[in-house]
Amino acid sequence: MSQATATSHGDTPMIEMTGLNKWYGDFHVLRDIDLTVARGERIVICGPSGSGKSTLIRCINHLESHQQGEIVVNGVPMTQDVKRIEQIRRNVGMVFQHFNLFPHLSVLENCCLSQTWVQKKPRAEAEKTAMEYLERVQIADQAHKYPGQLSGGQQQRVAIARSLCMRPEVMLFDEPTSALDPEMIKEVLDVMIELAREGMTMLCVTHEMGFAKTVADRVIFMDQGQIIEEAPPETFFNQPRSERTKLFLSQIL
Ligand code: ADP
Ligand code: MG
Repeated sequence: MSQATATSHGDTPMIEMTGLNKWYGDFHVLRDIDLTVARGERIVICGPSGSGKSTLIRCINHLESHQQGEIVVNGVPMTQDVKRIEQIRRNVGMVFQHFNLFPHLSVLENCCLSQTWVQKKPRAEAEKTAMEYLERVQIADQAHKYPGQLSGGQQQRVAIARSLCMRPEVMLFDEPTSALDPEMIKEVLDVMIELAREGMTMLCVTHEMGFAKTVADRVIFMDQGQIIEEAPPETFFNQPRSERTKLFLSQIL
């Protein structure tokens, strides 16, 4: 093995979860989750409401803590240590259902804030990066508007750009199109498809099955805190194994 290969992260999985268990009080929300995500892999997570999908991906950047098992992100084991959590979060971007933009900041300021505060970048450099990513999600012309002046689809594209400004190694999406009017869903999915094509590692909680068929390497079906089934999209949609998966697919397709 060459030195370059040995020292690169090439062989380390992007995310490794082993024996993950989590409770909210007495409620056992995640049960014995084992999940390895390779570099560049695109994963779609689906399942009924309340099955633990959001909780699972929120554990990856420690927006939720777990009680049992291990999570390793980009080779770094998750602990309760604040510095360690910050180190992991630097590699992980997240996009939420309700965009979570700062309403009192312009689009450009939303995209610069973490760059100047967390990454300590000079303002000019942060703005340059912000404009680059706003350009990529085709919203640079709205840079000086406030989130409230934009449509839902535009706000979600800004949220994606803002996340990308931090140059994450992996992107987590939690139902990014569920709060959008139908005519705006495509503009957001198109940005996500583009990102997938560029090789970004992605975990997407979504019920957009067309998206899953287009970009997913693997579809994961969760129910009651467990991974019930995982398979490439062709197999998942055409030959689901478990009765629970079949029932779920019959309800959403
Ligand atoms: P999903 O994203 O699949 O809809 P969630 O991960 O949001 O599921 O929630 C899984 C279960 O955990 C649900 O029953 C939900 O009510 C419960 N839950 C989620 N967050 C909390 C919390 N902070 N405290 C207690 N229960 C929670
Ligand atoms: Mg959820």
